[in-house]
Formats: sequence, structure tokens, C-alpha cells
Amino acid sequence: MDDCIFCKIVKGEIPSIKVYEDERVFAFEDINPISDGHTLIIPKAHAENIWEISEEDLAAIHIASKKIAVAIKKAINPDGIACLQLNGRAVNQVVMHYHFHLIPRLPGGPELMMTDWELKPGDMEKIKQIGEKISSGIE
Ligand code: 5GP
Ligand code: ZN
Repeated sequence: MDDCIFCKIVKGEIPSIKVYEDERVFAFEDINPISDGHTLIIPKAHAENIWEISEEDLAAIHIASKKIAVAIKKAINPDGIACLQLNGRAVNQVVMHYHFHLIPRLPGGPELMMTDWELKPGDMEKIKQIGEKISSGIE
């Protein structure tokens, strides 16, 4: 896609700190890192979100995420790594080219805000109804 910033990164038209690349996938450091080692993994083929991306590219991203997580562990030995992926402007997806975040929490580093939600018991009847509705839509 011509005006997509991440397509430009894949083509080398915009510089990036690349950490990994294969046939389907490109991975690079986020320029606004939430923590050291904050890495983005993207498909080389433009797809906006989880509804558009091919299963093959999705699988390749997840396999790459394991390789990169192992390398992050060796490089900076985080206490944990959050995997995050946003779909749609309503959930603050900013770059409309699918990207999978790996966000390490460093030893002694602050809590990652997106991993720190309060557990409040839900309405079991409602949970069941929604679960059944989703389940019946699986193709
Ligand atoms: P989103 O909220 O869409 O999941 O996150 C988009 C991410 O892309 C942000 O963390 C942002 O810092 C990162 N980002 C946006 N533009 C660029 C860029 O030109 N280069 C790099 N390396 N990261 C970018
Ligand atoms: Zn793109």
C-alpha cells in the first residue's frame, strides 16, 4: 500500500531498527518504546487487522514472535513480555497495518499499564449467552 508507513518500512523507504526478517515477516524496534526492547512484528503483505490478515501470515508472525522473544530474553533478561495486538481505531490502533507488539517488563521496571486490569466477576448468564453466540459463529 503506497501511503502505509509500515509498508514503507518493509520496502526500506523509511529507516527502521530491524531485528528479524523472513519470507513473510518483518520485525523492528518501536520508535516510541513503552520499555526497552519493545518490538513490532508485521506481515510484509499489507493487511489492516486480524480480519484481513491471511492465516499463513498470522502463523508466521506467531512463530517469529517465539524466536524474537527468546532473543529478547537473552539480550535484556526481562521478567516478562506482554504480547499485544490492536484491531480498529476504537481500541487505539494507530497504524492501520497489522502489527504484533512484544513489550518486555524489565527487572525493577514499572508495571505495564495494559496488563494491570481489575478482576470484577461478570454476570454468568450474560457470559454464557455471549459465549454461545460466538461459538455458533465459528466457521
Ligand atoms: P498501535 O497503537 O497502532 O498498536 O501502535 C502503533 C505503534 O507503531 C506505536 O507503538 C508507535 O510507536 C509505532 N510506530 C508508529 N510509527 C512508527 C515508525 O515510523 N517507526 C517505528 N519503528 N514505529 C512506529
Ligand atoms: Zn501497509
